[in-house]
Amino acid sequence: SDCPLLPVVGGELSVPLQGGGEARAVNLDYAASAPALESVATHLSEVLPYYSSVHRGAGYASQVSTAAYEHARDIVGGFVGARVGDAVVFTRNTTDALGLLASAVPGETVLLDIEHHANLLPWSAEGGRGARVVQAGQTIAETLLLVEAELQARPAALLTVTGASNVTGETLPLRRLATIAHRHGARLAVDGAQLVPHRRVDLAFDGVDYLAFSGHKTYAPFGAGVLVGRRDWLDAAPPYLRGGGAVTSVTLDGAAWRLGPARHEAGSPNVLGVVALARAIQAIDALDDAEWHDHESALRERLLTGLEALPRVHVNRIFSDSVDPVGVVSFHIDGLDARLAALVLSAEWGIAVRDGRFCAHPLLERIGQGKAAVRASFGLGSSTADVDALLHALSELLENGPAAGYSEVDGQWQL
Ligand code: PMP
Repeated sequence: SDCPLLPVVGGELSVPLQGGGEARAVNLDYAASAPALESVATHLSEVLPYYSSVHRGAGYASQVSTAAYEHARDIVGGFVGARVGDAVVFTRNTTDALGLLASAVPGETVLLDIEHHANLLPWSAEGGRGARVVQAGQTIAETLLLVEAELQARPAALLTVTGASNVTGETLPLRRLATIAHRHGARLAVDGAQLVPHRRVDLAFDGVDYLAFSGHKTYAPFGAGVLVGRRDWLDAAPPYLRGGGAVTSVTLDGAAWRLGPARHEAGSPNVLGVVALARAIQAIDALDDAEWHDHESALRERLLTGLEALPRVHVNRIFSDSVDPVGVVSFHIDGLDARLAALVLSAEWGIAVRDGRFCAHPLLERIGQGKAAVRASFGLGSSTADVDALLHALSELLENGPAAGYSEVDGQWQL
């Protein structure tokens, strides 16, 4: 963990500091969007000359683009252990992929109260087909019992859970959740936005029926997402986007809609985003699993040990029995506003973290009385120097406070 496991673009950037001078940019905001792997950027520059419309163009570049786009489907499917009969549908991002799934579920959905809004809002509130929210317990073991009780009490079509929390990095036991869901006739969907960039997911092995994730969090920040999973519901669902490419024939009275991924991918797709995603996945696939895991868990341990030694800092955790979380850590600081802390880290130290409620308001209500927190997240391009920079800056901040120049306007800190 002393150096990056794979080189990323921007790893050596400098940023200006308040008060003059500059510093190496320290990116601890991978969970929002991860940097591109250098191999992804190189590949894109090789593919860009052949960038053209897919599927319907007869020109050579169109054929190359189409082949690359469809090959990407195979790469993604292979990487996540898709089964025969699974579809790989390209979307804009995880939000879009979960929205697509929500439009295809033939019944009610059960979910937990710890979800990112992307895995909450499509099912509940306006427009959803009906979601039943189970309040997670203090432990994962208790939470599994609560989920099982809910499914037993009343059948549901789908159980949808986050693979890894974007607030705490804690992971859920997918195989056990799949067994519980299947025992009661439900399918399991996983919001893999924060899991896929950190851990290998195998749909067939884990028993996961649907998986959604984003390219921009998986080292391909070019705006493609994926929904992979059982094709039958997707084929029976109304087309998610209506337009060219999703139909076999159209009259003024109606259309014959295609089956398979094309049914939901109308319009010109994000070819380069998809190609970038596939290349990032190939790079991840080539990693030694143990090395990948140890790189990130060593950084996490170092960060946690350092944070625990700081006064007034409280690391967030949902479950008391979770094991082996991914590289996402959030914390509250007594007496220090999260926005202000994040501003200082950026302006005075060149360190990028996230602050806020991370699109998980119900979860932040649960673990921090609704108060904003600071989140540090990292991955393949991170090193101990990044973690140490954050710990050093935080301890200085806690000791000396921010430099002059910050003011609070309408409850929001500004520089
Ligand atoms: N789920 C989780 C757990 C996330 O962390 C995020 C992104 N913050 C999303 C879903 C949504 O991803 P996207 O913005 O790429 O749609």
